[in-house]
Amino acid sequence: MAILGPLNQGYPDRIKRELSILYEVSNAMRTTLKLDQIFYMILTGLTSHEGLGFNRAMLFLVNDKENVLEGKMGIGPHSGEEADKIWKGIEQADLSLEDLLNSYDKFKRDSESKLNILVKGIKIPITEDMGILALTILEGMPFEVTTEDAKKKVSPILKNLLSTDFFVTVPLKTKEKTLGAILVDNIFTKKPITKSDIRILTMFANHAGLAIENSRLYEETEYLSKTDWLTKLWNSGELHKTLAKEVEKGRIGDRNLSVLMIDIDNFKPYNDSMGHREGDEAIKRIASILSQKSRREDFVARYGGEEFTIIMPNTSKQIATIISERLRKEIAESFASMELPQNIYHLTISIGISTFPYDGADKDTLIHKADIALYEAKRTGKNKVCAYNPRLEKGLFGFGKKK
Ligand code: GH3
Ligand code: MG
Ligand code: MG
Repeated sequence: MAILGPLNQGYPDRIKRELSILYEVSNAMRTTLKLDQIFYMILTGLTSHEGLGFNRAMLFLVNDKENVLEGKMGIGPHSGEEADKIWKGIEQADLSLEDLLNSYDKFKRDSESKLNILVKGIKIPITEDMGILALTILEGMPFEVTTEDAKKKVSPILKNLLSTDFFVTVPLKTKEKTLGAILVDNIFTKKPITKSDIRILTMFANHAGLAIENSRLYEETEYLSKTDWLTKLWNSGELHKTLAKEVEKGRIGDRNLSVLMIDIDNFKPYNDSMGHREGDEAIKRIASILSQKSRREDFVARYGGEEFTIIMPNTSKQIATIISERLRKEIAESFASMELPQNIYHLTISIGISTFPYDGADKDTLIHKADIALYEAKRTGKNKVCAYNPRLEKGLFGFGKKK
């Protein structure tokens, strides 16, 4: 007992405090499934004075496709003076850890910190020769850079970017794999990072890993529910939602908005003769051209079977017509040299355009008017772009009667 006395001094209190921080942060993480918000909570828990009090904390995630580790968020001051200012501010405002954890919206509103911008630009290949962060992932273990010797193993990219001397990394793990890593340092206070810091950091990272995994699964499911499985374009549910929002934005900002309805020409005979699978391949190829050759701000959706819709925010009828013409040509050219059985046409598309506010003031009217223009394009020869104008409705009436 006598031996335990000195070793035990202050120990239970600190553990209690650490566990209560862990508890508070885990609880906070359970209130959201937004990945970015979870990053914020993890890093706030690590850096705030009320939390674990590291000077800076940074989070990195593995990008499996590219086999790189990407910086996602960094919290902490960029310089000693900034650190003093922030910490004094927090003390004066008397913010609790809970207040800080809930201040994500403010964090998003405030201009981005230099550290955060820096971290988000970091991309490290996950190979053995890429230094401590890459090794943290490969070995799934914490690394301490707390001695001059260890410092030599830090990759120059990291040393230059973060101008950090001593730091600790811990992996973010789920049961099956390592998702990423956290890096913390005490660059300003120079307070040594102890074994017990690393222990609590590891516990922290284990909770964080699970929260990140849950949020990722949720985001993936949400993404799948909004997209079309065959083409990976937005699906029609998402199209209707987005169009309603964009019409509202157009109304508030007094701006144009154009809607394109697109239908593949003579697709039925192509499909019947080439087979359904070949038909699906053609739909996929057309979807990919539409999304690659439209502009970044355009919203490309699969409306149904072999029909597509593109929402073009802030776009006049004239510009929409020019872009449509370009898309039509791209697709015609892409299929022009395909060998086909006799009597089967090379695939092309027809496009109908309507424009807010002239042709309609709500999403359903705009879709309907773009559809009328599309039928006009079909009626007058296919492989064509046609913009809506009120005279078409008379034309369509006449066409209907003839049939
Ligand atoms: P038009 O030029 O007037 O558009 O004539 P069309 O032959 O393209 O006629 P329509 O648009 O009515 O034909 C649609 C055909 O598209 C019917 C069906 O065989 C085919 N189709 C619809 N959805 C799919 C799909 O998901 N996969 C495949 N392979 N074919 C589809
Ligand atoms: Mg059709
Ligand atoms: Mg068709």
